[in-house]
Amino acid sequence: MPLASRNSSSSSTTGSPVTAPVPSAVLIPLSKPAGRALMLGHIHPDADVLGTLLALGEALAARGWSVVEGGPHPAPALLSFLPGVERYRTLASVEGAFDVVVLTDCPNPARTEGLLEQARATGATILNIDHHHDNRRYGGVNWIDPGAAATGEMVYRLLTALGVPVTPAMATNLFTAIHTDTGSFRYSNVTDETFRIAGALVVAGADPAFVSSALYERRQAESLRWLGESLRRIEVSSDGKLAWLSLAHGIVPESFIEAEELVNYPRSIGSVRVACFLRQLGEHVKVSLRGKGDVDVSRVAARFGGGGHPNAAGCTIPGALEAVTRDVLAAVRLALDTAGDSGRAA
Ligand code: AMP
Ligand code: MN
Ligand code: MN
Repeated sequence: MPLASRNSSSSSTTGSPVTAPVPSAVLIPLSKPAGRALMLGHIHPDADVLGTLLALGEALAARGWSVVEGGPHPAPALLSFLPGVERYRTLASVEGAFDVVVLTDCPNPARTEGLLEQARATGATILNIDHHHDNRRYGGVNWIDPGAAATGEMVYRLLTALGVPVTPAMATNLFTAIHTDTGSFRYSNVTDETFRIAGALVVAGADPAFVSSALYERRQAESLRWLGESLRRIEVSSDGKLAWLSLAHGIVPESFIEAEELVNYPRSIGSVRVACFLRQLGEHVKVSLRGKGDVDVSRVAARFGGGGHPNAAGCTIPGALEAVTRDVLAAVRLALDTAGDSGRAA
């Protein structure tokens, strides 16, 4: 989950908002007479993509659109509390034609596992709404705001611009999107605009205590033992700048890993500048990288075919855990050693 570096799009020295208005190109296809809309999610959906697709899907359905929400993978159990998440379908293929296809929080069309190309072939208008700076601009309309802490902020602004009344369900979905992408309003991507929008969402019916409890206080008792098993495997480099957790398959359940942001533990060490979490997933290793502003970890991830934000990025690399761990750590070390010249994050 993302930690973009601080961006000035919504802040000024006076604290007044300077956020650019929602582009009219985004409003036009959604203001047309009701048609058929596909809200298309990315692989391994998180709260930012699910919350935004569900909120916008609800808004379009209320305006008479026929809406399908879904993507290549199911919503994780951790997010079963999102209002309307039961509507989110696992799609093997795109059925029928759509007038509009909306993708949120999806920087790379490859993250739809071919579903976007199928939808595009039906002649739909592709609406790409995202806050990743490395977005590939694959849409017919591309609204990319790297200054937004979460796509949830952008979709709140979109609903407001469309004149949609924000229901408590939409508010909970968008509040959760922002909550998770900001690490509970703790990361450097948080701006005054983030708090303004979060406040408006609470007014609209989001309950912060409910969301925190649903996200972080539904562990089963065994989870703490699994957490112990995981944490004792964290390693730290001799200079203290790099910490990593390389977790072999079968040590803890997959469902536990999905529900925990394990990369946050190596990141929480004071001296650490870059934290890595690596785990074997079949023939691949899934890698999560987190930085603290010295190194643009999305550039490191990009070297391995991934991407993300300057302070939160990821990639999926074919190979065995040990070899991939060695390669990724070497790449991070190189970036750390050259930070200050080419490796430094903005
Ligand atoms: P994660 O570590 O999985 O929470 O992902 C952190 C950030 O990196 C998110 O913004 C993702 O969009 C991005 N990311 C993770 N994995 C990949 C990947 N394989 N390719 C591109 N971006 C990724
Ligand atoms: Mn996401
Ligand atoms: Mn996001």
